[in-house]
Amino acid sequence: MEYVKELLKDTPLKATPQRLAILKEIYEAGHIDLESIYKNLSNSFPSMSLATVYKNIHTLKKYGVIKELAISGSKSKYEIAKQKPHHHLICKVCGSVIDIEIDTSFLKKQLKDLKDFEVTNCDIYCYGICSRCKNKTSG
Ligand SMILES: [Zn+2]
Ligand SMILES: [Zn+2]
Repeated sequence: MEYVKELLKDTPLKATPQRLAILKEIYEAGHIDLESIYKNLSNSFPSMSLATVYKNIHTLKKYGVIKELAISGSKSKYEIAKQKPHHHLICKVCGSVIDIEIDTSFLKKQLKDLKDFEVTNCDIYCYGICSRCKNKTSG
């Protein structure tokens, strides 16, 4: 729990047990959607509603503690924002999300000279089939 508590240090947010539990879920899963967080925590916090999870996620996002992934054709997934910069591989079959480091300097170079737009960051999402799903379909 100490690590996830640290994440709230630079925010005005209180480290409530629910909030810490939500952060722990996201931290341990890597990438997780709202419903899964709710489902996983329903045993430990039987009185916590989906709306409460939603509200906490919204607040954590607002203060930059977590980041929402914009995966097309899928429910929003969330990850801890404070990480090494990385991009994502997404399996079109099972929906799993895999972190990948891509050197985007070529992209920044190409986008540097845009006249009417200043690029600050690029998030890359690559879609395909993960090895687990590939083995399943071929064997
Ligand atoms: Zn897969
Ligand atoms: Zn990630």
